[in-house]
Amino acid sequence: MSSSASSKKSKRQTNGIKLATVSSWIQKYDKNKTWLDYELETAGIVNKISCKLCTKYENKINGSRNFNRAFIVGTTGSALKADNLRKHIISDPHIKAVQYENKIGIPAIDIIRKAPIFQSFSGAEEETRERVSKLFDIAYTCKRGNFIF
Ligand SMILES: [Zn+2]
Repeated sequence: MSSSASSKKSKRQTNGIKLATVSSWIQKYDKNKTWLDYELETAGIVNKISCKLCTKYENKINGSRNFNRAFIVGTTGSALKADNLRKHIISDPHIKAVQYENKIGIPAIDIIRKAPIFQSFSGAEEETRERVSKLFDIAYTCKRGNFIF
């Protein structure tokens, strides 16, 4: 049996995901296209997702609890999951970045509360909901404390 070369040359292959999948996530989690950014590996395949807002406000949010640079350097490979997007947009640093972005006008918290993601938590288990609302409280407190202009 001679099966020498063929399977060896796929070293460039990553765990990219379909652009169609990413588009459906944008519909769900970033309908107004404010934060989600992605990089194409090849036509129709996305290999990296990052957050425009967290990147933009990194210097302001990097002192937040649970701050990490995953969505600033960009998530790749097996981290490209809807679940990670959900976790990101309810994370303390991201909520702050959204608030910085929306510093003029309606309090960001209202926008967040209206977002489908927040509503989709109505079906989530108690513990998650509690955690989420706590995060919102924290964000709201920061806002009231004039953390944000
Ligand atoms: Zn973010």
